Amino acid sequence: MSYRRLGTTGVVLPEISLGLWQNFGDDGPADRHRTIITHAFDRGVTHFDLANNYGVPAGSAESNFGAVLRRDLRRYRNELVITSKAGYRMWPGPYGEWGSRKYLTASLDESLTRLGVDYVDIFYSHRPDPHTPLEETMGALADLVHRGKALYVGVSNYDAAQTAQAIALLKELRVPLAVHQPRYSMLDRGPEEGLLDVLDGNGVGCVCYSPLAQGLLTNRYLTGTPAGSRMSRGDTLNPDTLSPALLTTLRGLDRLAHERGQTLAQTALSWALRDARVTSLIIGASSVAQFDDSLDALCGPSFTEEELAGIDQLLAD
Ligand code: NDP
Repeated sequence: MSYRRLGTTGVVLPEISLGLWQNFGDDGPADRHRTIITHAFDRGVTHFDLANNYGVPAGSAESNFGAVLRRDLRRYRNELVITSKAGYRMWPGPYGEWGSRKYLTASLDESLTRLGVDYVDIFYSHRPDPHTPLEETMGALADLVHRGKALYVGVSNYDAAQTAQAIALLKELRVPLAVHQPRYSMLDRGPEEGLLDVLDGNGVGCVCYSPLAQGLLTNRYLTGTPAGSRMSRGDTLNPDTLSPALLTTLRGLDRLAHERGQTLAQTALSWALRDARVTSLIIGASSVAQFDDSLDALCGPSFTEEELAGIDQLLAD
């Protein structure tokens, strides 16, 4: 495993990390959770990304990760970076989502209980709140660090301007913004339009989610929609996304990947890591085989100028 420094913090993260948004809830078998998580750690993945609402039902991914931690990884707690987030709806009533001090504080306490840990390594504001002053949200994050419940703080899904404001507010509070978590992949290059520069210019790490576009940038859908796949469930990956034009692009990328001696998933991950401003990619996986295939991206060749131009061309078509 190769590790990259998280912004200007003292910690490094693996270039590829494991996210537990899907496939780690109570709707999946506990032995599969355990196998993938422990296998990831054996391969040098020290960073596990969670949030209050992950899993079906919401919260079950944290409980299931906590169970693996208790059973297998407890003695390695100091070798792990465990994250959580709050921002999306977690409980009924007016205090169960967004970015108030009340919600963030209560949510982290619940996450710590589910995970069975005294602190998380990184706690994120999961999304910007249009109705709560950013001062309150950032103040709550800083206080959670002061109270020892989180070591570092981050934001996710904030745009470049909101991120710049968050950086300034946290600087005043002497708890620097350690990390931003945007969506970034060949199919979503939004962070290239300003956000990556803001992060790089302020020493903030960048941990990217859905680098495989939820499985589109793999061989999963090149010849149909397999039963049990994310698209077959249709809740977060809409089958309508896979237009004939996108399928043509994906097949072109797949050919290019094979010419490089990689699978499409590996080339998609190597591509996202080509940018030194990216600290880590958080991947999902529903099997050890998928996880291993993705992780082997780290053994791939670097890109030639022609390959990068070829990818840009395929994505533009
Ligand atoms: P990916 O883009 O990596 O998609 C993962 C899915 O792609 C897998 O579940 C699997 O689909 C398929 N897949 C993965 N590897 C392979 C492979 N090698 N070959 C074939 N298919 C493969 O990431 P996710 O969308 O799962 O997001 C990753 C993490 O990012 C989340 O768990 C979460 O931690 C974080 N995240 C954060 C968000 C935020 O708002 N901050 C939002 C979303 C995610 P299948 O399950 O169908 O087998």
